Order: sequence, then C-alpha cells, then structure tokens
Amino acid sequence: MKTIAVLTSGGDAPGMNAAIRAVVRTASANDCTVFGVRHGYQGLLDDDLVKLTPESVADMIQRGGTILQTARCEAFKTPEGLQRGVEVLRARHIEGLVVVGGDGSFRGAYSLAQHGMQTVGIPGTIDNDIHGTDETIGFDTALNTAVEAIDRIRDTASSHDRTYVVEVMGHRSGAIALAVGMAAGATSVLVPEEDLDLQYVLRQLVKGAARGKKHPIVVVAEGAVSGAEVGEFLKQHIASEVRVTVLGHIQRGGAPSARDRILGGLFGAEAVRLLLDGVTNHMVGMRCGRVAATSFDDVFYQDSQLDLNYHRLIDTLAV
Ligand code: ADP
Repeated sequence: MKTIAVLTSGGDAPGMNAAIRAVVRTASANDCTVFGVRHGYQGLLDDDLVKLTPESVADMIQRGGTILQTARCEAFKTPEGLQRGVEVLRARHIEGLVVVGGDGSFRGAYSLAQHGMQTVGIPGTIDNDIHGTDETIGFDTALNTAVEAIDRIRDTASSHDRTYVVEVMGHRSGAIALAVGMAAGATSVLVPEEDLDLQYVLRQLVKGAARGKKHPIVVVAEGAVSGAEVGEFLKQHIASEVRVTVLGHIQRGGAPSARDRILGGLFGAEAVRLLLDGVTNHMVGMRCGRVAATSFDDVFYQDSQLDLNYHRLIDTLAV
C-alpha cells in the first residue's frame, strides 16, 4: 500500500487532530503517502483533498476541533454519491481510507468497503456511544469540560442555596450525563436510555434535603428531556429557587485532554498498521485497556450499553 487518505466526519471531537497526526506520521514512517479529505464525505465528492506531510501536522496535537474540518453529507448515502466517492479515491490511486467519526461515518466507510476500498474506522465522538470500544476520542475532554462548568455552578448554587438543573449533551446516549453526574456529585441524572421519571428527581431532592443538602445539582441528558422542562416541574414542587443551565457546545470545543490525545495517537497508529496488514471493514477501539479491532458488522450489530448500575450508585452516593 503506497497511498492512503484520512477524513473526519460527523460531529467534531477534541483529539481528532491527534489521530490525524498519528495517521500521517505512522504512514510516513512506512513510506506511505497520505491525503487529507476536507469536510468529510462532502469533500470526497468534491475531490477536496490535500497532501499531508509529517511537517504539515506539526503543532496540532493540542488543538481542539479538526483541521480537516467535518461535514454531514446526505448525497454520499445515495448509490451515485458512493460511486463518485470510489472514483475520486481511485483516480488518486488511494488504496486505503481511515475514517474518524461516529456510527454514521462508519456506515459510509462500510459502504466504501463493499465497493472494494480498504477502510478502517477510528471512533471520534464526544458521546462515547459506539459498541466495540470502551472509549471514544473526545469523550474525556467533553466530560472534564462539563464537570469543570458544574464545579463553577456549584459555587454559586451553594452561595444562594439554589437547586440547579444542568443540561448536558447526549441525544441518544446518556454516557456523558452519567459520567458527569458521578464526577460532579449530581443528586440525580436523567438519561435517554430510561423512561422519564420526574418523580424520581423529586424523591432524590427530598432525601437530600432531609440530610441538609441545600444546593443540589440535577444533570439531564438533552435527549432525555430538556433542562427547561425539568426546571419548570421542580419550580412547581419545591420551595428552593431553581435555575437551569444548558452547557451546549462548550462541551465539544477546547484543547483535548491528555487521555484523548493518547487515544488519538494509539488509534491513528493502529489504523494505519491495520491497513498495511490488509485489514478492512474494521474499527479500532479500546477494550479492557487494550487497543483492539472490531469488524463494522459487530459495531453495527449492537448499540453500546450504558451501565445502569452506575446510575444507581450515583443516586446512593448523592444522598
Ligand atoms: P456520526 O458519524 O457522528 O454518527 P452522522 O450520523 O451524521 O455522524 O454521519 C456522518 C456522515 O456519514 C453523514 O453525513 C453521511 O455523509 C455519512 N453516512 C451516514 N450514514 C451513512 C450510510 N448509511 N451510508 C453512507 N454514508 C453514511
């Protein structure tokens, strides 16, 4: 294999640049040329590719976002779009493609593999919701950003004896909410994987109040219910002042944590090694502390599972 390409797709995640850097430098060490595809699959259809050299990826390990930029591209999902993508890669003699992104991005890589292109995926999403890997690039940074924000909120909550509802990211997955809830000492957490139960939130607040808790934090994943709705409900049922904060996109940005940079390095290097070994249609991931590849078929077969025992532990520790 002499020429490969790398693209970032779907939502951006801190640590994607560390992965791109590792792909480029590992490939270079193996005498392989690398093209970066800008703007995800859209850039592939537009033939928007740039040659990446070991020098061109200097000074980016600490930068959030993705230097290749990312996009969502409906046209790539059509048979014509897919065909066009294959043609662009072939015209440039690209034999292997590394796709950094989430589940949707891997479906694109899977389709390319069905057309004879060698593809390997790297999980890059703050949501940590991909089956086959314990960690995704970006999750640790997003988690730390949210926890730091809640620590600040806690200062003002305690100064005023207020109850705070904090909405965090996670449309389909409560992974961020649960981890944030544990690390920030939330009184209760609402996640999309469970039926909405506002009475549970109330019960936790009452239990906490009984032992003198005056400034509880309720963490809500955006996909479970809006923070505003929970805030309105609580205002009807408790005496304390209730405030709602939506953390939003601050969770996506910022310099990647050490962990996400390390994952970027490990996954990027392994993705290139797999391509050089002739492996295709697989995702690189971390399983039980080891870098391991999982076939896309297995990745798609199952949704990642939240450990709901963890949820019960948060409830116990909070009150
Ligand atoms: P993520 O990778 O973060 O899950 P998306 O689900 O938005 O993000 O997917 C990113 C892009 O991957 C889409 O805009 C599209 O170009 C491509 N993609 C998603 N699903 C498919 C599919 N079934 N077939 C081909 N390409 C897909």
